[in-house]
This record gives sequence, structure tokens and C-alpha cells, in this order.
Amino acid sequence: MDELEILQEADRRAQAYVEGIENRRVFPGAAECAALSGFSEDLPDMGVPAVNTVKLMDELGSPATVASNGPNYFGFVIGASLPVAAAAERLALAWDQCASTQDGSPVADVLEKQAGRWLLDILDLPRESAVAFGTSATACGLSCLAAARAALLDRMGWDVVNDGLMGAPEIKVIVPASTHVTVRKALQILGFGWARVLKAPVDGQGRILPDQLPPIDSQTILVLQAGEVNTGEFDLFEEIIPQAKAAGAWVHVDGAFGLWARAAPALRNLTNGIEGADSWTSDGHKWLNTPYDGAMAICRDPQALARVMNSDAAYSSASADAQKNLTLEFSRRARGIPIWAALRTLGRNGVAEMVETHHSQAQRIAAALSEAGFDVLNRVVLNQVLVRGVNDVATQSILKQVQDSGTSWFGGSVWQDRPAFRISLSSFRTQKHHVDRLIALMQRIGPAG
Ligand SMILES: *Cc1c(COP(=O)(O)O)cnc(C)c1O
Repeated sequence: MDELEILQEADRRAQAYVEGIENRRVFPGAAECAALSGFSEDLPDMGVPAVNTVKLMDELGSPATVASNGPNYFGFVIGASLPVAAAAERLALAWDQCASTQDGSPVADVLEKQAGRWLLDILDLPRESAVAFGTSATACGLSCLAAARAALLDRMGWDVVNDGLMGAPEIKVIVPASTHVTVRKALQILGFGWARVLKAPVDGQGRILPDQLPPIDSQTILVLQAGEVNTGEFDLFEEIIPQAKAAGAWVHVDGAFGLWARAAPALRNLTNGIEGADSWTSDGHKWLNTPYDGAMAICRDPQALARVMNSDAAYSSASADAQKNLTLEFSRRARGIPIWAALRTLGRNGVAEMVETHHSQAQRIAAALSEAGFDVLNRVVLNQVLVRGVNDVATQSILKQVQDSGTSWFGGSVWQDRPAFRISLSSFRTQKHHVDRLIALMQRIGPAG
């Protein structure tokens, strides 16, 4: 089979998969998972024909996928893939560009810069900021936190890039007690030590209590959140950021999904004051509905990011705004291209409509579940509904019944030391009847499980 035929074969199967996504079990059944043992083969000495590999992948693999690209998946703010984003990714795969520098790919360089300008526009963040397209909010957050530390130390006359951390002045890090686990991961990797990081007390919705913030000074990195992972809540940026900036701190905002509220007029006020921070992270692969792995680090001072991320070498030097000098990766695919394609196709109004639709769907679910006797724990300011049954046993039982149903899926969590479940709205495919179906299923199960 020649190259075109094998690509067509994969495309034919991909199209059939997407066509059937709505009717697939949302989480695969036991038989489909057990059949994955069919992949346990010895490494062949002589390769098998390409078509056979694609066929095996589809026949055994597709039935064991989680239908997170479908309309009935309500877990983890995972989002689906917009058709144009998936298509742009397909074409970019054919290009196979090493999108490190303009030398590596003139087109990737231009499209990612365009995507970066549009992101600053739609998220209304300082237009002079650097936009780096990394693999994840985890990796992008790590990059921003490294830039933050270097910038604070630089102001104190310590060059961390050359002199390292031994003997450096101590940097204090403050995070919300409810911070996302990946902020913890990034801080640990950077050597901050989780036990030494100060956890700011939060209210019943997971927002920092401004009057209980630990003292902030010019040696402080303060991490805030746009979109708490359980409740979808926002820290009070307008109140907190000006104080922290006046004290000389660096403020970083984790907005993996919540930053997109800024692109929706009806929700924008949740983000008031967020533009005063120094750096922000968000994902494309969550709420913008682009494929994995696509995220962005946005840094007000481009030099601060470039200083810690520079990877110029004699054989490969580029401008400070080349992606390889802003992200963790050196060789990389152009993660900004599906983001560019999504923004161009949705437009400002399309993004706002998607975000606002998910917000109203979440509100509708919350109202229906409250009415049915479930305990809705959050205010539903965004796209998250945090729920319990009448007691912990009921909560676990409801979760299991929904997950086993095959028709809808959401995940469990722990909120204030007790089990809960999280219903997230983030797929462009989810329409009114999918929401109705979830509500009907929950009504049938009932709050007592
Ligand atoms: C998902 C998430 C992250 C991590 O994002 P990845 O892209 O999965 O690395 C960070 N913060 C919050 C609030 C999240 O929801």
C-alpha cells in the first residue's frame, strides 16, 4: 500500500470514529478493555504491513477509547476537538514542521505569532506579553514560575541563570490552599519544596480570603486561580493583585480553563483585575476544544520568560521570541496552529457563545439536581457543578451508577474532606438534549443513590 492509501485508510477510520462518537459508550465496557490484551505481541522481527497496524489500532483500540470527544462526557473539563482544530492538526502533521524557530518553519512561526496576538486580544491581556505554546498548563505554569523566580532574584542582584540557587536569597511562594495539583508539581520540580510553600486560607468556594493572605513582599511569588478545579471559582483579583504588585511581588494566574471566562462578555466580570498580573497560563485543549497537547504561557515581560527558556546554540540561534526560546521544548510541533484555526473559525462571538452556553448548561443542571434533592455545593459561576447525594455512601453509589451507565460520564472528587462529584461542561458537541439525558439519568438514580 502506498503512502496515500495508508493515509486515506487512517482518515476513513477516523471519520467513522467521529461519526459514531455520539452512540459510543462514554466509558468502554469491561469486554472492550479486556480485548486490549490483543496488543500484547512480541516485537516483530520483520515489520508488518502498515495497513495492518492501522487496522489493529482501530479494531482493538477505538472500542476501548473514552468518548471524551463526544457530547456526553462531563468529566475533567476535557473538551472535545473542534472539527477545524482537528483538521488543522491533520494538515500540520503532513507538514511535519519543527516549529522551533523561523528557520525551522516560516509558516509555523507566522501562524503561532498570529495565534499569540489573537489570544492577547480575546483574553484582553497586556499586548506586549510573550505567548509561548507549550504542551500543557503544567509545563506552561512551570515556565512562568521559573521566569518569576529569575525576575525577582534579578531585581535583588542575583543572576539565577548563571549562579543557580545555592546561596540565593529565599523566594517565598504563596498559593491558594485549593491550588491545582499541577501547580504543586511545578513548584516541586523547581525546587521550592511543597512543605515550604505557604497555603493561603480559602473560603467555602475555594477562593483566597484576602484578609488572611500571608505577608507579601518583593521576594514573593503569589499564585492565584481563575477557575478552581472543583467549583470553577475565581480569586478576587481586583482586590488582591494591586496590593501584591505594590509590595513588589510577582503574580501568576493559573487559568487552565477559567481564563476563557474573560472571552465571554456575560462572565468577564469574574476576571476583573486579572490583567494586572505578571503571568498567566491557560489550555487550548480544555475549554477552547483544541486537541492535546496545546497550552499557553503568557508573560507580561517577554525578556523574563526568554531569560530562563533560552536554548540558543551556535548551530541554532534565533530571536528571543522564537518558540524554542520561550517553551520547555526545543524540537516541537506547532501547538499554536490548532489554536489559531479554532480562534479564526469561531471568531470572538463563537468563543463567547461556546463559553456562555456551557455556563447556562451548568446552571440548568445545578437547578434540576437541587430540585431533585441533590446537594449542589457550589455557586456555579462557571462551567462546574459540584454535587453530593444525601450522604457519602449515596454519593459514591451515584457516581458508580453514572459511570457504569455508558450513556454519560463524570468524575469524583473530594471537597472539604468528603466525597463529591464534578460535572463539567466543556464540549462544543454538548447540546440541550445531551444535558436533558444527563438530568433524566440523575433523576432516575436519585439523591439516595
Ligand atoms: C487541568 C488544570 C491544570 C493543568 O493543566 P494541564 O494542561 O492538564 O497540564 C492546571 N490548573 C487547573 C485549574 C486545571 O484545571
